[in-house]
Amino acid sequence: MFNTHKIGRNDPCWCKSGLKYKNCHESFDQKIADYKKHGVPVPRRDMIKTKEQIDGIREAGLINTAALDLVEREIKIGMSTEDINTMVHNFITERGGIPATLNYEGFPKSLCTSLNDEICHGIPDKNVILADGDIINVDITTIYNGYYADASRMFMLGNVKPEVKKFVEVVKECFELGVKAVKPWGRLGDIGDAINTHAKKHGYVVVRDIGGHGVGIKFHEDPYVCHVGKEGTGMLLAPGMVFTVEPMINMGKEEFYVDEKNGWTVYTVDGMPSAQFEVTLAVLEDGIEILTH
Ligand SMILES: [Zn+2]
Repeated sequence: MFNTHKIGRNDPCWCKSGLKYKNCHESFDQKIADYKKHGVPVPRRDMIKTKEQIDGIREAGLINTAALDLVEREIKIGMSTEDINTMVHNFITERGGIPATLNYEGFPKSLCTSLNDEICHGIPDKNVILADGDIINVDITTIYNGYYADASRMFMLGNVKPEVKKFVEVVKECFELGVKAVKPWGRLGDIGDAINTHAKKHGYVVVRDIGGHGVGIKFHEDPYVCHVGKEGTGMLLAPGMVFTVEPMINMGKEEFYVDEKNGWTVYTVDGMPSAQFEVTLAVLEDGIEILTH
């Protein structure tokens, strides 16, 4: 169904821009074909978003970012993670959005709240009360007009142990280096290389088997974005790709397990803290755009 060479140069482009193919994605397709000929794994056409789709994801991103800003202003010791859930759920729905996690494959809440040794997919709970010294990742995905935007931040409450504070700061640096490594016509492995190199330098461990993902039309799309990688390897990063960078990094060992009772929450085996930051970004012709800022 994506048979490009059948498109005439004067036919409308496959991206539905309304432009003639020769004035739109023809040179793009030629460039992709050239990389492919040289053995580079290239994205499928359904991983390439149109300008209209990126505009839609940005709109969802605006609500999502405002929801995270709200959490940043309101989060405090003594609050339950259920309180965060209620606040964010109301905020998103009042603006015409839908919290993507709610009822997603049975997930019961409108966001994920992952505390201390929880790596990801923590479930908001009225009995989980934020305490002095806690670190927490709040991960929100908003659907708006059918488009998805996904981001998360870390919050530190009260007197966080200096070594844990340092850890969270380094995880943020790793994440920022990962985002910086995304370049048009670069490679997916560049991201994981940048993140993992910095984490290792500080003695921390990147979780290899839970990673980022394409996003925008659906919650989880291809490609899988591994946060451990090798520069110059992996899928070509072509303009129009939209995906998350969201390294999960452990202060201790990499090993994790999933909560048997709820089927979701992922914990470190050694009980040491884990931290994560996340954005949704678009690869453009001349750089990148973070769609959740
Ligand atoms: Zn086009």
